[in-house]
Amino acid sequence: MNAYLVEGTGGYALVDAGLHTAEGEAALRAGLADARVDLAGIRRVFVTHLHPDHLGMAGTLERAGAEVVMHRPEIAAARRVWGADHRDIEATYAHFARHGMPPEVNDGMRASWLEMAERVDAVDPVPIEDGDELDLGGRATRVAWTPGHTDYHAVLVDAPEGVLFAGDHVLPRITSNVGLYPRSRDDPLGDFLSSLRKVRDLPVHRVLPAHGEPFDDLAGRVDAILAHHDARLAATIDAADGAERDAYSIARTLFPRLRSAHEERFALAETLAHLRHLERAGRVVEVDGEPARWKVVAG
Ligand SMILES: [Zn+2]
Repeated sequence: MNAYLVEGTGGYALVDAGLHTAEGEAALRAGLADARVDLAGIRRVFVTHLHPDHLGMAGTLERAGAEVVMHRPEIAAARRVWGADHRDIEATYAHFARHGMPPEVNDGMRASWLEMAERVDAVDPVPIEDGDELDLGGRATRVAWTPGHTDYHAVLVDAPEGVLFAGDHVLPRITSNVGLYPRSRDDPLGDFLSSLRKVRDLPVHRVLPAHGEPFDDLAGRVDAILAHHDARLAATIDAADGAERDAYSIARTLFPRLRSAHEERFALAETLAHLRHLERAGRVVEVDGEPARWKVVAG
């Protein structure tokens, strides 16, 4: 996972903060020491989205004196996932049961997600809105809402320098997980495809992703990800065709190798996001039941 240290006339800023494990904190401190900056030298931290490998150590930086900034509705979503009652984790358990996840897998999913919550600091970010300008160590960047990977994921566009701080929106080697959760916006995959098109032609010649190496060809990478999801939508139709099947069994066809409880969650949520997108396009219908099943619409 990459966090970006930005040095400018206005001091230092950071984009994203890693997972709060002993290794994560040691890596952050070592990276800052290499740059001869101490924790207290970070003035501002922009967090692209609520995932634990991005938000995790933001509270540590806040306590060291940084201002943590985050897209306003993403702050509320973070509280529902990471707050003491873990509302969204419990709601997801019921949602996954409804879509056919076996109880023992669902139990493991919940346990590993709750364990992850211990690696996320308590933090009280300052809200910022889509389209606002954000000073990042003296650089003028603009916040752009890019829903899909999470509902209120946001990137920073540094137009004068031609740089995009992309978070998990556009990644170089892997495609970011797009999942349907009980409190998601209506069509997360539709959101994701639209917000890829929205950033495709930005005047950017350097993309700084949160995972993998920085890269230059934003439009080329966006086109490849769009093509990937076209193929996955076709594969989802193929997997659902014939007998009515529940989403978990479709996910097991689409993702035959799942190595952890987290991967089980991403596979089911991602499959549901594809099914919902197909449903909104009139290609499949959800049939109520225990579990709910999916049917391909003829023609
Ligand atoms: Zn993420």
